[in-house]
Amino acid sequence: MTARRPGSNSLLLEQIGTLLAVPPGPLAGPRMRQVPAIHDAAVLIRDGRIAWFGPGDQAPLDEGSDTLSAGGGCVIPGLIDPHTHIPFIGDRSGEFIRRLAGESYLSIMQAGGGIRATARAVRNATLDELVTANLPRLQRMLQNGVTRVECKSGYGLAPEHELKQLEAIRELARRQPIDLEATYLAAHTLPEEYEGRADEFIELMADPRLLSDIAARGLARFCDVFCDRGAFTVEQARRLMERAIAAGLRLKVHADELAQIGASHLAGQMQAVSADHLECIDQAGIMALKAAGTIAVVLPGTSFYLGIPHCDARRLIEAGLPVALATDFNPGSCMIESLPWIMNIACCQLRMLPNEVLTACTANAAAALAVHRRAGAIEVGFDADLVVLDVTSLDEWFYTPGRPRVRLVIKAGQVVFRRPEHPV
Ligand SMILES: [Zn+2]
Repeated sequence: MTARRPGSNSLLLEQIGTLLAVPPGPLAGPRMRQVPAIHDAAVLIRDGRIAWFGPGDQAPLDEGSDTLSAGGGCVIPGLIDPHTHIPFIGDRSGEFIRRLAGESYLSIMQAGGGIRATARAVRNATLDELVTANLPRLQRMLQNGVTRVECKSGYGLAPEHELKQLEAIRELARRQPIDLEATYLAAHTLPEEYEGRADEFIELMADPRLLSDIAARGLARFCDVFCDRGAFTVEQARRLMERAIAAGLRLKVHADELAQIGASHLAGQMQAVSADHLECIDQAGIMALKAAGTIAVVLPGTSFYLGIPHCDARRLIEAGLPVALATDFNPGSCMIESLPWIMNIACCQLRMLPNEVLTACTANAAAALAVHRRAGAIEVGFDADLVVLDVTSLDEWFYTPGRPRVRLVIKAGQVVFRRPEHPV
């Protein structure tokens, strides 16, 4: 399938049935569904970047380039998952069963389960154990066509253990091909020892020296906060965000998941890169995000997994917000690590159209990580992160959920995953 020439740094991906040439993000409103389709296409890759794309019979002849056949399949940009809680450790399957029996997520959390249960496991784990537990998760994500993933701390609930999580992310990035974007989730929940002292906890986690250390060592690009009923208030979140900006970090917010307390308004005011969840967003929140150019990251896997109402993604799209999708992969509210599964839920439950879903998981997901000038699109000069699918159209992919359709994954011009020829 590949004709390899020693020393060659260019690759022509040819015999592409349909190239879905997603333009660079962010893409809002009707632009989310306007994805140019080029039939019988080819993509020329040089030095890990896209050098040319277009109809195959017009492909430039690059002396000595390798060739690779897409076998008539559909080619899309590498998928991007802009919200996960990797790295975590520990087993909370007991809570899953308790929820099925009728207990609420909030009551389990109040009884010492939930985030605090994972925090105990993360505090007890070594950095090596965190890396070992999470490497296979990223390897499976790669097999699902994901080439870039956001990873958060937030289960340490103390500076030392948050730093351990961020260092685990750095080590995971070294050990496998997916690019990882790290977020310091400074305020996820209160640890037991700070019960009733949330302001003091914010002071601890938003210590300017800690934030500067994280930024200076490149341990995270973003700072995140869970601003919601039962989590942190708007005032606490604002204090943290102001300090994070001063330290040179960019902002993300867990907003409007459980209740509307003004978190999306705050995200807009503080010009957060993304506001994530948004199940309870109101019109003022939508306008605040739109005015700030904040990306709305919708997490339908969580609603599906918890059996609670979904975010109204259609309303956000119709209002002209750029919408991204993510797994929210975490051990409590969404143990779904498959982005294609999330994409299918977005079609079937959120009534998003296939092209909107693709844009949400590529161009707009790149914008939610502020990498949209180099990733998430089929564009000359962009990273050559490409996925070859075993389908002739996106419609076919989403019409037949659960079937492994990713045939090849190319990361920065290198084939990093190839599905065995025999069906599994
Ligand atoms: Zn989350």
